[in-house]
Amino acid sequence: MYPDVQLYIDGQWRPSLSGASLAVLDPASGDTLGSVAHAGIADLDLALAAAERGFQVWRKTSAFDRYKLMRKAAQIVRDRVEVIARIMTQEQGKPLAESRAETLAAADIIDWLAEEGRRSYGRVVPPRSDGVEQKVIMEPVGPVAAFTPWNFPINQVVRKLSSALAAGCSIIVKAPEETPGSPAELIRAFADAGVPAGVIGLVYGVPAEISNYLIPHPIIRKVTFTGSTPVGKQLAALAGQHMKRATMELGGHAPALVFADADLDNAAKLLAASKFRNAGQVCVSPTRFLVQREVFEPFLAKFIEHAKGIKVGNGLEEGVTMGPLAIDRRVPAVAALVDDAREKGATVHLGGKAIDGPGYFYAPTVLSGLNQGMRIMNEEPFGPVALLIPFDTLEEALAESNRLPFGLASYAFTTSTRTAQALSSGIEAGMVTINHLGIGLAELPFGGIKDSGYGSEGGTEAIEAYLNTKLVTQLG
Ligand code: NAD
Repeated sequence: MYPDVQLYIDGQWRPSLSGASLAVLDPASGDTLGSVAHAGIADLDLALAAAERGFQVWRKTSAFDRYKLMRKAAQIVRDRVEVIARIMTQEQGKPLAESRAETLAAADIIDWLAEEGRRSYGRVVPPRSDGVEQKVIMEPVGPVAAFTPWNFPINQVVRKLSSALAAGCSIIVKAPEETPGSPAELIRAFADAGVPAGVIGLVYGVPAEISNYLIPHPIIRKVTFTGSTPVGKQLAALAGQHMKRATMELGGHAPALVFADADLDNAAKLLAASKFRNAGQVCVSPTRFLVQREVFEPFLAKFIEHAKGIKVGNGLEEGVTMGPLAIDRRVPAVAALVDDAREKGATVHLGGKAIDGPGYFYAPTVLSGLNQGMRIMNEEPFGPVALLIPFDTLEEALAESNRLPFGLASYAFTTSTRTAQALSSGIEAGMVTINHLGIGLAELPFGGIKDSGYGSEGGTEAIEAYLNTKLVTQLG
């Protein structure tokens, strides 16, 4: 059964003060699953006041006690994985195996950040004069406003929530209205673990109304957002106007480079799995497959074989490897990009259309014969579409990789160490993974550059984003 999702404010699960709620839809059928409470300004005021009180409690809770509560929450998440994963698949569409993996990975992320919170060390700087002591102290930045999207309903929340909590901040999460149930279960695990009232708030509503109210609010000291580049730029500008710290994890258009010396079987297998995971609705999804001309045709054939092996269907069904798109507006959005490419001369090797019937299904799609005048070569497709493009030289591949304003993830397959070195220094991206899929682990930085945003949501950098640096220098 799908829950009717409520707000979580000041340690209480409850409907909005106005009673407003919105339907949550099943993307595999378009049917209504349940509802989600919609917060108004009065609810936000309660959440803000609670976050301020929660911050005063949490910042004085020792790092060790915070760690213990977070580890307990992680265990609760593991214990409830089947329930949580089912809710996620119902509301988001991804196959159950992917929902389970996302839920279990969330528990690992909580664990890692909980531990890392105990190592948020400052430092002592040698003085220039006798008797002076110079200390650099790390302090939590304060109450955080977090805005998260519907593609990874738990993963996008847990990175922000765990970093904030580990650092000693309170946080108000504006989770996605389209996929509200699984993030609510994540937060329930923290509540049930005993995290004090006010430390975590959870709201849903009209995204622009909530961000316009929370970001400028004096109680909020830090803003973190994952979503599209245009919205990220608006929110970053608002945060800038009010001098709020900000982390922006935005769109991408990842290049995946396959050189003639690469293990083609391995490259095709890994890249196809990565491309069609979560129906391509992944900010780090490989999108522009740049393949060296002498292996272009064999790679294309292998890639199509893997794509044909994908079983599309309701993510709750056994054996399904790709679900529907998560929300209805994504089907026409992906179709418009593919149609534009087709009209401008692209070859459609596979898919290229929505799948008839109920639900928001779009077929796994492989295109070649592309050029830079096509929208899809410039805009993030955020769907199950692979663009295969031949190249001749390393320089040409690097130029195409860096052509767009995005700079999030990038992939490369080569057995040449010289090529690998040139790519690792030459690609303008926050993440470069060579000969395997190696990004997204809790202990590794995760984030982009250029229009893909700033700040990191993994590794030690994840906590630093929630800490202020204070100098204390004292004589005597
Ligand atoms: P959108 O730009 O309307 O929204 C993207 C996300 O931002 C959603 O979660 C939405 O609720 C939120 N949002 C929108 N306006 C907001 C505002 N003013 N204040 C706060 N939050 C706001 O797009 P969409 O139709 O939901 O998704 C389409 C595009 O978004 C995709 O093509 C993709 O580029 C991007 N996206 C990126 C990620 C990611 O992981 N980086 C995740 C989801 C969507």
